[in-house]
Amino acid sequence: MTAARQSVIMSQPLTLRIRPGESVRFPNHCVACGQPATERLMLHNRRGQLTRRLDAPLCADCARQLARRSGREEQLRRTGALVAAVVGVLALVAVVALVGGAWWLRGLLGALAASAAAAFVWALFRRRAEAAQLPETRAVRAAAQIVDFTWRDMTLVFADEAMATAVRELNAALLPAAVPQLEAGEPTI
Ligand SMILES: [Zn+2]
Repeated sequence: MTAARQSVIMSQPLTLRIRPGESVRFPNHCVACGQPATERLMLHNRRGQLTRRLDAPLCADCARQLARRSGREEQLRRTGALVAAVVGVLALVAVVALVGGAWWLRGLLGALAASAAAAFVWALFRRRAEAAQLPETRAVRAAAQIVDFTWRDMTLVFADEAMATAVRELNAALLPAAVPQLEAGEPTI
């Protein structure tokens, strides 16, 4: 998982009772540097077919940093796109040439093989490109992360402990300890 290679010290994990599509409240400060936020950092975590996303506040400077790529990263992405396209076409041609049967079936199998082969190659290059990220870019990306999730919970960590505390306070009603009482119909103020 992405949390495996963290170089920065992260906050205590914050688990919120939040289902897909529900949002978390953030202070209007950049999660990476604390400046006033005008942009968004999309956090995501994937497990198998399930993906959870969340937007965190980001300032314009950090957003620019996030878009910046190292030369090596750019090169890997370009080469990856080219190799993925070539491998996809080769897979399509090979399947169409080697598999018997109706033309539409060969075409369908060829298209499936082409997209699977291209996706596999692209994933290999993308992983290497991510490893070649600029340290400053990686720091912005690591400022807030979804480290775990279930169908009803999401666990976040932050590079900045003060941000973690602020998010905990803003979302006190979503803390697992607070929610069962609400669900049981206890009066709330
Ligand atoms: Zn910032």
